[in-house]
Amino acid sequence: MSCLENLPVSHSFADLGTHFYTALDPQGLNNPRFLHVNQGLAERLGLDSTCVQSPEFLALLSGNAPLPKGKTLAAVYSGHQFGHWAGQLGDGRAHLLGAIDAATGPLELQLKGSGLTPYSRMGDGRAVLRSSIREYLASHAMKALGIPTTEALSLVASDDKVYRESIETAAIVCRVAPSFVRFGSFEHWAGRPEQLKQLLHYVIKHFYPECGSPILNSDAELVQHMLRQVVRRSAQMVAHWQTVGFCHGVMNTDNMSILGLSIDYGPYAFMDNFAIQFVPNTTDSGGRYAWFRQPSVVHWNLARLASCFLDICTEDQLQAVLAHYETDYLAQYHWNMRQKMGWDHWLEADVQLVNQWWQLLHDHQADFSLSFRLLAQTPTSPDAWLALFEHSQAAQDWLQAYLQRTQQNQHTAAARVAQMNRHNPLYVLRNHLAQQVIEAAQQGDTQPLTRLFSVLERPYEEQLGAEDLALPPGPEQRIVALSCSS
Ligand code: AMP
Ligand code: MG
Repeated sequence: MSCLENLPVSHSFADLGTHFYTALDPQGLNNPRFLHVNQGLAERLGLDSTCVQSPEFLALLSGNAPLPKGKTLAAVYSGHQFGHWAGQLGDGRAHLLGAIDAATGPLELQLKGSGLTPYSRMGDGRAVLRSSIREYLASHAMKALGIPTTEALSLVASDDKVYRESIETAAIVCRVAPSFVRFGSFEHWAGRPEQLKQLLHYVIKHFYPECGSPILNSDAELVQHMLRQVVRRSAQMVAHWQTVGFCHGVMNTDNMSILGLSIDYGPYAFMDNFAIQFVPNTTDSGGRYAWFRQPSVVHWNLARLASCFLDICTEDQLQAVLAHYETDYLAQYHWNMRQKMGWDHWLEADVQLVNQWWQLLHDHQADFSLSFRLLAQTPTSPDAWLALFEHSQAAQDWLQAYLQRTQQNQHTAAARVAQMNRHNPLYVLRNHLAQQVIEAAQQGDTQPLTRLFSVLERPYEEQLGAEDLALPPGPEQRIVALSCSS
């Protein structure tokens, strides 16, 4: 008997009813092989190493066999893309397999790149190896940074051909999350109260039980309570993005998780040289999803979500919940910045110093991650930090003001350094590092993937022999923007 047969599997989403999805099998990859398995996540799912090495496990994660006791399906959703209503979208190349009950609750497994569905529109249902490696690594990097995200269990490659700008090969990533319900899942049912309420009750029952129940609360209350939590979680998520220099690239409402998870890693980037208007995605020529706009885009997306409930709540009720966004965002943003700056409390006046910080980084196009990381070494050895700013007068002035502010700390100098190093990652999934891993994997060499994955597991700790992975790209390695072809 296969080790998968005994897993505690549930399928709450499938139980919602067939309005919400199409039940169908994936189209498995030919001659599949694992390029990587996330052992830590496998263990949390109760999958031991014998199981991970079994042929059944590969068959499952390459789309060639169903999850025993699971129900395989592609979910329907709609959404706003780049500010415009796009109508129905849905899982065009993803299959939900069911959920494995882990210690923290059921975790759904979803294959991405697993073939055509009724929602594939013009697409081929496939994902290329290049984009699959990027999604796999980003999920891992974000998780290790402590940023809410969908996770990734496995990366499977094959020789199956996929046609993009050139011919590439197909891969499948297995994503893992408590739920893949998106803002767009609700938008799909706006104006159709029966299914909208059904989805609302489902999400609250399984993921926001503290928001009440249809027995004790009115639907208007349930909407407001749930929306309040989604506002908070989404605000916290984007505050983390801002303070780690992450640009998502495609912040459409169909790419916004109802659980406040970072989801759908496409043409994203962790910034190297800081520029407030940085845009990672070549197709976003208007800069709608530029770094500095990300917090307001999340607010806009939340307003689209809220507007689905206009038949249940009044506009005033919904506006009152949305109004918490700014406070929620600032609370997380200030907390993060305080940790990153090495301060043991936050002062009103810190806002000004922090704004000057961003200006300084922007003016010098300084390296985002190293600017924070090397700041911990001041005042003892300020040279490496100052070098990032060409030893400019502006940098020296800012540093002086910063060090003066830092003297108001009650904690020791050593505690300050330790705090900063716990919150300013040394190893970041820079685009050129992902690119090196991709090029090696395309040649059949997965060693760089394994190495980067393992180093990104502990982004805040200096690791012997990983010095090269902490460096910004050289001039020839710099990747300015990414195509969203995937
Ligand atoms: P994205 O912008 O990647 O989140 O995708 C937007 C929509 O396009 C979603 O409904 C996807 O499922 C769908 N999609 C993207 N790429 C493909 C593909 N190669 N085949 C089928 N559907 C796709
Ligand atoms: Mg998407």
